[in-house]
Amino acid sequence: MTAFKKIEDHLRKEAKNLLEGGKVTLVLAYARGFDEKHPVPCVVKAAADADHLVFNEYCTYNMARYLTRYPVGTKIAVAVKGADSRAVVQLIQEGKVRRDDLVILGIPATGMKNQKTGEVIDAKTTASTINPVLYDVLLGDEIHGVKAGSPYDVLAEFEGMDKDARWAFWKKEFERCIRCYACRKACPMCYCDPCFMDASRPRWADKSPTDDGTLMYHLTRFYHLAGRCIDCGECSRACPVDIPLHLFHKKVAKECEAMFGQAAGMNIEDKPAMANFKGEDSDQMLG
Ligand code: SF4
Ligand code: SF4
Repeated sequence: MTAFKKIEDHLRKEAKNLLEGGKVTLVLAYARGFDEKHPVPCVVKAAADADHLVFNEYCTYNMARYLTRYPVGTKIAVAVKGADSRAVVQLIQEGKVRRDDLVILGIPATGMKNQKTGEVIDAKTTASTINPVLYDVLLGDEIHGVKAGSPYDVLAEFEGMDKDARWAFWKKEFERCIRCYACRKACPMCYCDPCFMDASRPRWADKSPTDDGTLMYHLTRFYHLAGRCIDCGECSRACPVDIPLHLFHKKVAKECEAMFGQAAGMNIEDKPAMANFKGEDSDQMLG
């Protein structure tokens, strides 16, 4: 079981020291919401406010989401769990943030819970990334000995369906989409400004939640995230109608890993799979 209180104490101390010492301009982490089961993303800019920071099993937000909101060159400390650290690595690979501008506060954690349902989410989303893959300061002890399955185990049921059943499944799910774009807002890899959906010249898709427009939004987003999704599951948790978007992203991630031999954000030395060409790359489409 993760020692959440110990991590919280360490987080406050590090944030205070970094801000007092002028090493960073701001700290991205978590603060208490309307109760302790509903913490919220938090930006701390003054050392005196560091004691407002919290960490517990409900701190599921991926704080890497907020890195691209600040100009390159801003010195930022960011609290990251395993999958969140993969987002930081991927953003560095894509040139959206600079490693030198960051102090990465790594948090090894298991037993994280969905704020809405209380369900433990480890196996559904970040099963393979318990410890941060990149950090400057580790706020807890590395976790070893936890039997983590493949992150793709949750796909078994869907991979067992034939194409018609899969299509029927996703068609039904997308009919429930109200196009609030919370999935886009929560995703650390959705940083385009403007998003293609918001462009009016050209107008790529119907902006109201029509079947065609909704399909265009999701299929294009799935394609844009190919080889880039770091499996945090935030898109699904942000969705007010609980569409299991992470399953589709996992399927694409699984195929990308099989084709290109790398998973998004796992190694800072990698180049983004979709922006790099190797002679031995597969040209097969997997089923
Ligand atoms: S698509 Fe979903 S699971 Fe993937 S990085 Fe974005 S929010 Fe996380
Ligand atoms: S968060 Fe859910 S309802 Fe909102 S746009 Fe995304 S899939 Fe649709």
